Amino acid sequence: MSGSNGALVLFSGGQDSATCLAWALDRFERVETLGFDYGQRHRVELDCRTGLRAGLVADFPAWSDRLGEDHTLRLDALAEVSDTALTRDVEIRMREDMLPNTFVPGRNLLFLTFGAALAYRRGLRHIVGGMCETDFSGYPDCRDDTIKALQVALNLGMERRFVLHTPLMWIDKAATWKLAADLGGAALVDRIREETHTCYLGDRTHRHDWGYGCGECPACELRRKGWNEFVANERQSQATESADV
Ligand code: ZN
Repeated sequence: MSGSNGALVLFSGGQDSATCLAWALDRFERVETLGFDYGQRHRVELDCRTGLRAGLVADFPAWSDRLGEDHTLRLDALAEVSDTALTRDVEIRMREDMLPNTFVPGRNLLFLTFGAALAYRRGLRHIVGGMCETDFSGYPDCRDDTIKALQVALNLGMERRFVLHTPLMWIDKAATWKLAADLGGAALVDRIREETHTCYLGDRTHRHDWGYGCGECPACELRRKGWNEFVANERQSQATESADV
């Protein structure tokens, strides 16, 4: 068991959690991954997990020694209790309270709680998730205060000293691509572009600059916008560098 320097990453197979996985591999001696199958429409994201993990092992020898077991938990009950466009075949739209109807109430509370129960059994102290307040859809279970409150509750309720890490909390999607570039260079950016999945509709037939997806849903829109900003920023900093030379 990895003791105090082991981490469990909530790894869905999307861009954010893949970046979190690289972040954790850069920091912790042993890293295990956890994915949830809750009847999501974009279930294809779960299939991306294996490919991305294999890609990290192939491209980053230092990380391959640290990458431990992968776990998948079925949470069928989540689709049963919630009425949401993520688990039902209805059109994705904004609700009257301005939350998108992809909102699954308390999803991240459940994910982190199951994550902590698994981390308890595996002897892992750090739990890493891709929750983000910055340019997300206003999901209340992604708020920093929510995560901090849950950390207190989990530590009280399980008699442990878990640390919940959310490296993406205050950065936008462009900065998430930049973080990947800083952690693993172009090789990591390419792996994330090719092997992660974001599209809510589960579309992997259309290939864009920023990866696969329908190109229309809110998740695709956010990913495209972040990618375009990232590319523009990179071009600008390269231009500045060559002007300095
Ligand atoms: Zn899409």
